[in-house]
Order: sequence, then C-alpha cells, then structure tokens
Amino acid sequence: MTKATKTEAAQSGTCPMCSGPSVHAFRPFCSRRCADLDLARWLKGNYAIPGPPASPQDLNADEDDQAGFGFDTS
Ligand SMILES: [Zn+2]
Repeated sequence: MTKATKTEAAQSGTCPMCSGPSVHAFRPFCSRRCADLDLARWLKGNYAIPGPPASPQDLNADEDDQAGFGFDTS
C-alpha cells in the first residue's frame, strides 16, 4: 500500500503555503490559489514563510525554475 507514489511532487517538495504536495505547473506551490496567496503576501509587504526555512536541496531545485515561474494574473 503506497499512499504517495513517485510523482513530481516528490521532486518539487511541499507547498510553502499549505504544506501540500507541490504541483509542477505551480511550483513550489500546490495550486494557483496558493501561488496567488503567496504573491498577495509579497505585494502587501508582510510576507512570512511558515514553518522551517527551505533546505539547500530545495533552493537548488528551485533555481532552474525561475525562468519559467510566471503567474497568470488574467
Ligand atoms: Zn498549497
């Protein structure tokens, strides 16, 4: 019995907003909703990362995501 199969979520880590499994399209978040919530916090200037800081592995994993990390604000 496997409750978590080897998917992209395992590589992407967890959503910083709700700790759910990250989704490739919204990395590092799990959904558009969490991505928007994070962006809203940044815009309000009161952004704070819940939980422990990201591990070096997570930082490295995110590094090559920057180029494709765009929000659809429409
Ligand atoms: Zn989330």
